[in-house]
Formats: sequence, C-alpha cells, structure tokens
Amino acid sequence: MKLAARVNEVSPSLTLVITAKAKAMKAKGIDVCSFSAGEPDFPTPQHICEAAQRAIDDGKTRYGAVTGELKLREAIAKRLQTKNKLSYSPDNIIVTNGGKHSLYGLIQALIEAGDEVIIPAPYWVSYPEMVKLAGGTPILIETSAANNYRITTEQLREAITDKTKLLVLNSPSNPTGTVYPPAEIRAIADIVVEQDILVVSDEIYENILYDDAEHLSIGAVNPEIFARTITSNGFAKSYSMTGWRVGYAAGPLEIIQAMAKIQGHSTSNICSFAQYGAIAALENSQDCVQEMLNAFAERREFIYQAINGIPALSCPKPDGAFYVFVDISKTGLKSLEFCNSLLDSYQVATIPGIAFGADNCIRISYATSLDTIKQGIERLSNFVNSLT
Ligand code: PLP
Repeated sequence: MKLAARVNEVSPSLTLVITAKAKAMKAKGIDVCSFSAGEPDFPTPQHICEAAQRAIDDGKTRYGAVTGELKLREAIAKRLQTKNKLSYSPDNIIVTNGGKHSLYGLIQALIEAGDEVIIPAPYWVSYPEMVKLAGGTPILIETSAANNYRITTEQLREAITDKTKLLVLNSPSNPTGTVYPPAEIRAIADIVVEQDILVVSDEIYENILYDDAEHLSIGAVNPEIFARTITSNGFAKSYSMTGWRVGYAAGPLEIIQAMAKIQGHSTSNICSFAQYGAIAALENSQDCVQEMLNAFAERREFIYQAINGIPALSCPKPDGAFYVFVDISKTGLKSLEFCNSLLDSYQVATIPGIAFGADNCIRISYATSLDTIKQGIERLSNFVNSLT
C-alpha cells in the first residue's frame, strides 16, 4: 500500500510509545515505576465532573458551535483578561480538542511549503512534526542547561530569515521546566515585532510555577506584540483533565476564523458536555489547582536533590511544569538505549531526550506519587551504578 508521503515525514510520538509500553508491562503484572506520562496523577476535581454530568442530564449532548460553547468562550475571555492581561472577545477564541489540536489547527492555518517556523530545542515532541505535516520547515535553536534551556535574543535574531513566519514559545516548558523571566519575554517580543513575524505562546503549564517564578504572557507586553500573538492553552495540566480533550487558542480574528474553517471540516465542535466541565473549572474556586501544585512542589524538591545525588546524573531545578530534564552524558549512553535498558532491566519508564531534540538527556515526569518517585529513583541509581 502506498501511504501519503507526508506520513513518512513524521515520527510517531515517542512519549506515547513508551507510555504504552510501560502500561502494557503493568497490565502483565510487572511492577513498573512510570515517569513517562505528561499527565497529572490526580483525579479530575469532583465539581468539574459533576458539571459535566449535569450537562448530560440537561441534554447538552448535541452538535454545537464549531468554535465552542459561547459560555465557555466568555469564561476563557474573562480568565485571559484577569489573569493574563490579554483582551480577547469570545470571537477571538476557538475551543479545540485539547491544547495539541489548537496548535495543530493553528499550524495548518498558517504554515505552508517554504515557511520556516522557529522552535527552541529541547522542544515538546509535536511541534516539529506539526510543522512538517503542514509542509513547513522547523528551524531549531539549540539551548543547554548552561543557559537554563532558554534561547537568547542573539540566537533568535540569527535564526530569523525572510522565510520565517512563526516562533513557537513554550513557557513553562515541556520537557525542561524552564520559565522565561518577564524581562526575557519582553526582549523576545521586541524582536518579533521588529522582524514582523508571528508568535504562538503555548501556556499550557502556566499554573504550575514554583518559588518566585513568574509567568508573563508575551501577548500582554504591548499592543504591537498582541497583534502578532496566538495564545494556546488547555485544561489538561492545570485541572487534571487530560482525557477530556478541551483546549483553546486566542488570537487575531482572521487566524481564529481560519482555524474554525479547518476545524469545521475535521472535528466539528469539541465534546459538548466536556465543555461544561471546563466552564466549571474556570468559574469555581482554584483551590484544586493550588493543591496539585503543592504536591508537585514537594516532589520537585525531592527529585531534584535525588537526581543530583547520583554521581553520573545532573539536572537544573525546574521553575515550572512537572518534569526534570536529566543530563545522562556521563553514563556514555545515548538516550534511547538508556531508557530502553532502564525500562527492560529495572522497570522504570522515562522518555529519551532524543524525542525532544536532546540525545544526551532523559525526561522524568514527577506527576506520580512520592512513593513511586522514591522507589523509581532507587532503581535508577542502581541502574546507573551498574553501568560503571
Ligand atoms: N503543549 C505542551 C507543551 C504539552 O506538554 C502538551 C501535552 O503534553 C500539550 C501542549 C497538549 O496538551 P493537551 O492536548 O492534552 O491539552
């Protein structure tokens, strides 16, 4: 069978592949410590579930507006105004099938052959593949632990050509947990405006911030950058709603309407009653977000100390999200070999850095219980010791 050429251009998501392998091992009764999933381990808060159940009882089970329920878009607009200082009307917002599909729809709407998209590396696995699926060219900017995995303005300037259409910014970052301080966001915004390109700001981890880390939405810097920004977000990480598949994009009307056109021919509206859960998430107390953050903060402290206590491993302290990005260079192994051996021999699932464009690293998600973390770190330590 001859598949479309575009399929051969993209790699399968290694995150999903390893997570599935770990799940299959668990299903066979093998005791796996899983650090692979980018998914909070808490149940979705009860009041959110109840709102969706009520929506089903109230008959909110029919096709709806392609861009999402007006009530949800109003709630998102209000949240973006009060929390992020971004003034969008509901017409500037499209509700999508998770944050992933908001980014996919955006890239489909904007990018075509000949366009370059700048992506800081390490990057979230799907960005380059989405660009390739749209026929565009991903342009990677390398960063390292030495500069906290953040691009510099010099690097950004150098990467921009007359083909550059879009910069992808992800702060807090998956996989590194780095957060761009407001001054750096402002400096990047100046270049985006000066060079007249667009920026998509993937803010899906904006609520998971530690110590005094501060999140500034790049679109809020000034009106010039606002006109060139698309803000992407979702409910999965903040509210432990990964399976609900509700995300959104907010941006200039022309772009949102283009995304709606594509969505109208691909997914139609997002699950109707899931949107009522999302409304409840935004309109009720945010204590649940804080409770999850407190748990992540405790785990982060433990895992950061524990990893850096293993002689051949090191990682910077993440400022946000729920990942540590661990340098494994001193073990002499490449990331895929490291992760496969660790899973096969010590039953610990982690994600090889090569999936994120950094073959000297692995990603450990600490969205799992402290007990699992303690046990997994001990096994990881034994594995690394066995290599020397
Ligand atoms: N952006 C980043 C950086 C992510 O890590 C993820 C999920 O892992 C997403 C977007 C998409 O999230 P979802 O589609 O579950 O809302």
